[in-house]
Amino acid sequence: MSVTHETLDLHTRQPFGIARWTHSTYPRTFVTFTRDGVSGRGEAAPNAFYGETGTTVQAVLPSMLEALTDPWDWDGLSARLGAVFPHHHPSVKCALEMAAVEWCARSAGVPVWRLLGLSADAAVPESSFTVSLAELPVMREQARAAVRDGYGVLKVKLGTDRDARIVEALREEAPGVALRVDANAAWSRHEARRMLEVLDAADVEFVEQPLAAGDLEGHRSLRRVARVPIMADESLHHVSDVPALSEAFDAVNLKLAKLGGPLQALRALRTARALGMSVMMGCMIESSLGIAAAAHLSGACDWADLDGALLLSDDPFVGLQWSAGRLERPAAPGWGVERGA
Ligand SMILES: [Mg+2]
Repeated sequence: MSVTHETLDLHTRQPFGIARWTHSTYPRTFVTFTRDGVSGRGEAAPNAFYGETGTTVQAVLPSMLEALTDPWDWDGLSARLGAVFPHHHPSVKCALEMAAVEWCARSAGVPVWRLLGLSADAAVPESSFTVSLAELPVMREQARAAVRDGYGVLKVKLGTDRDARIVEALREEAPGVALRVDANAAWSRHEARRMLEVLDAADVEFVEQPLAAGDLEGHRSLRRVARVPIMADESLHHVSDVPALSEAFDAVNLKLAKLGGPLQALRALRTARALGMSVMMGCMIESSLGIAAAAHLSGACDWADLDGALLLSDDPFVGLQWSAGRLERPAAPGWGVERGA
């Protein structure tokens, strides 16, 4: 039995901007668990909002590898990881869960979605393509290029004092596509109220995280007057957050790297469903390995936002079959992607 890991700096084709930051380099750590000639792989895609960086991943990973002893014992893995770092280092937990689950699927010779007992008929919902925050002409050009490339769903990053103009301009550029917006927790309660009319006029499908992560009361009040569904992203860190969020949001954005892995994401998905919420499978900027893992769960979701690897210039994994925003659920054993040349 061995567990190895490797960190690579991945790069976006263009600087990627949201309300809090703009970056073009993303350190990602890849874990490989090998036993009996079979390997399972996972990716840690740390995000500073959830208290992680490339440095924290590399600092804690060696001590967390010990938790992965028996890849079939998923509850044991989760309990050991939770005992060492409750609610911290979710992307490292994600990498270890991914590796354990893929090892089991490859040992059984099935894709992960089948190992998890998910419906054989469920296709991945069409993914949005993200228009990142930039000067308005640059955002217009991003939207034009995406429409030209055949994308039918755009997700627009907001969180500026010119958000109304951005939404109006992008609706003008892309009249025929489904439009979603993500404020990344940047609006005040007052700004959010003002934006509702703009979002309705542009026929926006939903708004992600309008207010600060901790402002459940603000989201609850906003939801009472909003026609557009309101989705939690930054407010959701852990599966145990979901019941409280169901009082204030219509939907949740599930990301494996923030929730602690595919098994935690599946728990959050089922909890949200039981509470009557809609669900989107989301992602970080991450390689096709992390995106593949999210894709395996996406058939059970209403929406998908899985373009993280499409934004990269140096994705180390190959094998995902994309046609604009449409992603085929992988069929090969395990996650269904391989290291490229
Ligand atoms: Mg978001």
